[in-house]
Amino acid sequence: MNTPLSPHGAAFADSVSPGAAARLRVVLVGTQHPGNIGAAARALKTMGLARLVLVAPEDYPADEAYRRAAGADDLLGDALVVDTLADAVADCHLVLGCTARSRRVQLEEHAPRQAAALAIGRAAAGGEVALVFGRERTGLSNEELQLCHAAVHIPANPEYSSLNLAAAVQVLAYELRIALLDGVPVAEPVPVHPDEVPASHAHLEGFFTQLGDTLDAIDFHKGRAPDSAMRKLRRLFAKADLNEQEVRLLRGILADAQRMARLAGGGAGSLS
Ligand code: SAH
Repeated sequence: MNTPLSPHGAAFADSVSPGAAARLRVVLVGTQHPGNIGAAARALKTMGLARLVLVAPEDYPADEAYRRAAGADDLLGDALVVDTLADAVADCHLVLGCTARSRRVQLEEHAPRQAAALAIGRAAAGGEVALVFGRERTGLSNEELQLCHAAVHIPANPEYSSLNLAAAVQVLAYELRIALLDGVPVAEPVPVHPDEVPASHAHLEGFFTQLGDTLDAIDFHKGRAPDSAMRKLRRLFAKADLNEQEVRLLRGILADAQRMARLAGGGAGSLS
């Protein structure tokens, strides 16, 4: 399912840069305790945020979620439930994955304040932004983190760094609010030239799938596991901040490389 998630109505009750706030969503992946979903909804509402997306929650809908939402039932009722993280962020231009374990992945890592500034900046420029939180027991899987453009780590006690899920949501929601109150321009984004529309998450994932297939076709990995190279390539292209036209150009090059590999014999190994 790749349904684009339409922006919710006015996300900030007090109209602080409402355009930017409405382009922020919080995504909870595989939440195990419904109480945490309710508490996260409450955390968002206190900070004036409104968009919650639930990826395959284990036990939902549930009374406990509504009990812990304590008046944020509207936000909970509006929460979208989707099957996969890829579905939740398909139309996003910036995806930030919150992780309790620092430097676990080869992703650029930000502290919450930097992450909030990035998120608000991107949303104010017209981009859709997601903040992604993992499961209570196991956090986000490596595959899920690979779908994120950067990681966010709350610099907690290194010996006890894992916050309760809803507490982590509260910290990030607070930083988002402060970043908005601190004065991100309220003006609506300037129109982007059609050639420079930023690539959405779904566009980039299509590119990465084709890149992976091409590397196989040209026998780039030579028996090594492809994961490490793909992680580095993802990181490299995340830094490039590609627009749609650039993705099309790169995919054209890959298509030609795939065609040449087929002409050269159709199989990995036959090129050597
Ligand atoms: N045992 C898990 C922790 C899960 S806590 C693990 O080791 O990964 C549930 C979620 O809350 C995490 O996936 C993360 O999204 C968020 N979280 C908890 N502590 C955090 C921290 N210090 N920094 C950033 N996110 C945190």
